[in-house]
Amino acid sequence: MERISWDQYFMAQSHLLSMRSTCPRLMVGATIVRDKRIIAGGYNGSVSGEAHCLDDGCMVVDNHCIRTIHAEINALLQCAKFGVPTEGAELYVTHFPCVHCSKSIIQAGIQRVYYAKEYKNNPYAEQIFKVAGVELIEVELDEAVLDRHYQDKLNLTVLLLKELEKADLPEERMQELLKQTRSIYTKA
Ligand SMILES: [Zn+2]
Ligand SMILES: [Zn+2]
Repeated sequence: MERISWDQYFMAQSHLLSMRSTCPRLMVGATIVRDKRIIAGGYNGSVSGEAHCLDDGCMVVDNHCIRTIHAEINALLQCAKFGVPTEGAELYVTHFPCVHCSKSIIQAGIQRVYYAKEYKNNPYAEQIFKVAGVELIEVELDEAVLDRHYQDKLNLTVLLLKELEKADLPEERMQELLKQTRSIYTKA
């Protein structure tokens, strides 16, 4: 078993946080890191005590859900609330930040932004990151790092498929099973 890299570790943490999101439109997670320590985390959700989109539906205005605070802002606000400096810190986020979050990230003194997926990358956000000297680094999450038995499962699946081939299934059914297996193991 290989030791997980820091980038994968923090990116995995952001993906875990995204699973706490309360807005079904997009589930985002963000982790703020300084000196290889997690100092804050956030996901997109409602203001504390407010109804969740998951329960009451989104409040969509101009094609945006206005009920939620974005993950990146929630993480930055957590630092503000507890008096934790963000100057020189790094941010790991599941999706490329929107333009509003990008402005706050820069203004909070974040030095580097690691994102797992491109998401409607706003050209103005890219421009201001560049001007501010904030590094943007794409780090895709390798889901295999989260599953200690990934290789064993893959090996067993391949073995089972080989056995199945001997079972004389209709060709169409066999192709369908192969397709399903491939889509599970190559899902991003
Ligand atoms: Zn929503
Ligand atoms: Zn945002």
